[in-house]
Amino acid sequence: MMSLTAPLPGKAIDRLNGARYDVLVVGGGNAALCAAIAARRAGRSALVLEAAPKFYRGGNTRHTRNMRCAHDSATETLTGPYSEEEFWKDLLAVTGGQTDEELARHMIRESKEMLVWIAEQGVRFQPSLGGTLSLGRTNSFFLGGGRAMLNALYRTAESLGVQVAYDAEVVDLEIRDGTFLSATVRGPDGVATVRAATMVAAAGGFESNIEWLKQYWGPPADNFLIRGTRYNRGKVLKLLLDRGVQAIGDPTQCHAVAIDARAPRFDGGIITRLDCVVFGIVVNKHAQRFYDEGEDLWPKRYAVWGRLVAGQPDQIAYIIFDARSAGLFMPSCYPAIQAPTLRALAGELGLDPAALEKTVTDFNAAVRPGTFDSTVLDDCRTEGLTPPKSHWARQLETPPFYAYPVRPGITFTYLGTKVDREARIVMADGKRSLNMFAAGEIMAGNVLGKGYAAGIGMTIGAVFGRIAGQEAARAAD
Ligand SMILES: Cc1cc2nc3c(=O)[nH]c(=O)nc-3n(C[C@H](O)[C@H](O)[C@H](O)COP(=O)(O)OP(=O)(O)OC[C@H]3O[C@@H](n4cnc5c(N)ncnc54)[C@H](O)[C@@H]3O)c2cc1C
Repeated sequence: MMSLTAPLPGKAIDRLNGARYDVLVVGGGNAALCAAIAARRAGRSALVLEAAPKFYRGGNTRHTRNMRCAHDSATETLTGPYSEEEFWKDLLAVTGGQTDEELARHMIRESKEMLVWIAEQGVRFQPSLGGTLSLGRTNSFFLGGGRAMLNALYRTAESLGVQVAYDAEVVDLEIRDGTFLSATVRGPDGVATVRAATMVAAAGGFESNIEWLKQYWGPPADNFLIRGTRYNRGKVLKLLLDRGVQAIGDPTQCHAVAIDARAPRFDGGIITRLDCVVFGIVVNKHAQRFYDEGEDLWPKRYAVWGRLVAGQPDQIAYIIFDARSAGLFMPSCYPAIQAPTLRALAGELGLDPAALEKTVTDFNAAVRPGTFDSTVLDDCRTEGLTPPKSHWARQLETPPFYAYPVRPGITFTYLGTKVDREARIVMADGKRSLNMFAAGEIMAGNVLGKGYAAGIGMTIGAVFGRIAGQEAARAAD
């Protein structure tokens, strides 16, 4: 009989056949690890099935830097208090009210304990980094980033006796009358059927499944770049929805930002994001502007630009700025394209030189004098221009001229499984599953109907992950 708490030998898929765990956790990111640790701390055996090989373990969590949690006072790493009410108001504002208030308030309340609980699992925090959307008061930054955070969680989980199988993709779920029975898991060396008293689904969204994205976005999805793991293909989400779990969320809603068009198709991570929209203008492939680049402070607007670029022909756009703005922002990992004149820049980008020159000339003519300050809503704006640039408008006139090509960078999707405050999965008929739970991206749509507040992805994963692990442990009798 195989031990359920000793480390699994490598390439162990077939050895899982016939084993029966108390808690099966599907996924290997923040939500999964928080669930597995909580279940194990409650005395239950727990198995983590991670589709990725060990090097790529941890899904999108690998790419993260911080987590948003309510707290009553400043800490060593946070510059001031962030009350539950303020967190709630921020969430309400970004979602336009499209959130489950009871669940969201529950999550916010629980987030207060998270800073301590996560630290107890070995994760360390550091003060806010520069160039990170001014989050020093609200968001806790992981010392060493998401990968270090994950390494700490894996270390703790394994030292507690949580078993982890890598290269272990769940490809089927046996569910009867809303009750989980077993999972079919496929690895390089075979297929196994794993049984467990309870199951926590923490397998991310479907952002890396381009075919699925195309069902809602059509051919434009071929031009989307996926900022995170290629393993979040929505397999588990689809299985659950096909087997009678209630869906939540609009399938077209997701977190999407503008990223460097030269980024790889998957896993480009944070270093491909571009935060220089407010310093210049953004044009499409016809060299036309299409949105107010200075609508609001960048932390409140960075997450709208992915969708905006997705709406442009061929899903490509170009951020254009001049020498005065170079060096004012965190660049992407690719160098900006530069040229001594706008016409030459257009040539480098494959744009119509006359069209780009006219767009910039019209823009420059509309700029009103003001005092430039990118940290406040300044008075540098255009007049009589459509679309306007409401703040930080400065004439583009100082060579050399620069451009970054950008494409929609999809972070994660919001379509998910409905859950209650115990993270328990709700079935299509409204009944609560006896033994299935969900946490993280796979149920983010319960809290995020649309929009995003930086750092909340990790809050959703950690808070509901811990709850799911505790409740699964309780239900495993
Ligand atoms: C570049 C980037 C930066 C980000 N920065 C931040 C940030 O600073 N703060 C923040 O709050 N959020 C951030 N996010 C969002 C954040 O990464 C997610 O919200 C969070 O990590 C989700 O955690 P999760 O555990 O639900 O999913 P993930 O961490 O993505 O884990 C999902 C896991 O499921 C596994 N899996 C998928 N399918 C299967 C299957 N069939 N069988 C077995 N396993 C499967 C995957 O391999 C993966 O391990 C960022 C995202 C990206 C891409």
